[in-house]
Amino acid sequence: MIYNKITYVPGNGDMVCEGYDLDKANIMGVLFDAVTLTQAVDCALAQMRARKKGYVVTPNPEIVYQAMEDKPFCDLINHASLVLADGIGVIYAAKILGEKLPCRVPGIDFAGMLMHRMAQEKMTLFLLGAKPGVAEQAAENLKKKYPGLMIAGTKDGYFKNDSEAVAAVNAAGGADAIFVCLGAPKQERFMSKYQKDMNVTLCCGLGGSLDVFAGTVQRAPDIFIKLGLEWFYRLCKEPKRIGRMMKLPLFMLLVIRKKLFGGKTK
Ligand code: UDP
Repeated sequence: MIYNKITYVPGNGDMVCEGYDLDKANIMGVLFDAVTLTQAVDCALAQMRARKKGYVVTPNPEIVYQAMEDKPFCDLINHASLVLADGIGVIYAAKILGEKLPCRVPGIDFAGMLMHRMAQEKMTLFLLGAKPGVAEQAAENLKKKYPGLMIAGTKDGYFKNDSEAVAAVNAAGGADAIFVCLGAPKQERFMSKYQKDMNVTLCCGLGGSLDVFAGTVQRAPDIFIKLGLEWFYRLCKEPKRIGRMMKLPLFMLLVIRKKLFGGKTK
């Protein structure tokens, strides 16, 4: 197994072997892992069982756009153990650019399946992020939904010093995994900087997932998800996201420009 990059053996998620790397899809400089949801979860579990530290990122077009503008941020995304395609725009971009990505792997679906499998193995999870009270409520809901899942502790995402958050995680005795839900790019920077200091194997950057697990934000109905319109549902629910979402058409234009004229990512 290549521990700075996860290895996946098709058909046997429990196994890892030397030198078998995941395929990559280069979307405007961000190197996505070409995996399905099940494969992504298998990889994450293999890494946790092996107790090899790493972090998972789930870039959507907005994050890819940020990475195009910020090389150090792009580098830390590309150093993640798993780079999952969260966002239908990433899949469209892959199609346009002729890169192979099997499907969308929304961070929240990854988290759901991961917790299901962690519960079967009685693994421990720490929840970091969102407004005060949200992570605690999410913990209560998740313990009921995934019996066997051990929640090591929670901490809201509005801490004054990063060291406060790191100390909270370690004071809880650490965990097999931590969901870091601070929004991008804060969560990616936090994970890459502090993974070594936290007594945790796998850090997962999952944006607003704790709000959904706590029930304070509703996920889009299935029909929106199936049609690739989850972004539109979120925009209708939270019109103030319009500024952020304007990056989506801009991103698609840059993708088309790259396809037509090649050259630089931006
Ligand atoms: N957040 C946080 N600390 C901060 C800024 C944001 O914990 O300093 C939380 C915020 O409360 C929300 C999440 O980070 O729960 C970001 O959610 P958003 O919907 O922006 O993320 P997305 O799912 O779009 O990536």
